[in-house]
Amino acid sequence: MAAGDTFAELRGIIDLCNTAMYLHGTDEFADTARAEAWLRERDFNWSTSPEALAQLRADRERIRMFLIDRADPGAHAGVNDIVRRHWLGPRIGADAELQLVAGADPQSPVAAAVATLLLVGLRQDGRRLKVCASAACRYVYFDESRSRTRTWCDMNICGARSKMRDYRSRQAPEDMIHRHNSQTEGTSP
Ligand SMILES: [Zn+2]
Repeated sequence: MAAGDTFAELRGIIDLCNTAMYLHGTDEFADTARAEAWLRERDFNWSTSPEALAQLRADRERIRMFLIDRADPGAHAGVNDIVRRHWLGPRIGADAELQLVAGADPQSPVAAAVATLLLVGLRQDGRRLKVCASAACRYVYFDESRSRTRTWCDMNICGARSKMRDYRSRQAPEDMIHRHNSQTEGTSP
C-alpha cells in the first residue's frame, strides 16, 4: 500500500492528537463548547460531560505517549486500557478483513482512533506516524520522507530551534564541524 493511503487512514489519529497544540498552548478539548464544536465538525455523535472530556484528554495523551515510544510497556498498558474500554474483540468482517467488534461508547473519537492504531498504525508503514522530538511541541505528524528519519514536525520551527540551542550550547569549532555533519541526518525530504 502506498504511503499516501496510509497517511489518509491515519488522519483521524493525527487530528485527535493535535487538538492539543502545546507549542501554542491551545486545546480544542479544554472546554465543553469547543470540544462539541470540534466533534460536530467531524460527525462524532458523542456527548461531552466534564468527566468524559477529562477522560478524552487523558486517552489522547496515552495515544501520544505510545507514538513517542512504541517500546514502552507503560505506553502499551495505556493504549490497551483504551482498547479494553471500547472494543470487544477481533472478528473476520464481510469483506474477509479484520474487524473489531464495538463495545460501549462506539461513537467516542478515542474508540475510532485506537481502532485505527490497531489496524493501521501498528503496520510497518504505520510507523511513519510520529511525534515531534521537541518536548515543548509533541505535534503528531506522518513522516513522508523516503528515509523515514524525520524527527521534527517542521524543520523551520522545532528543527531550527533545536539547532539554535545546539549552536548556543557548544562553541568549540570541532564540535560545530561534527554537529554540521550529524545534522544532515534526520532532515525532512
Ligand atoms: Zn514540533
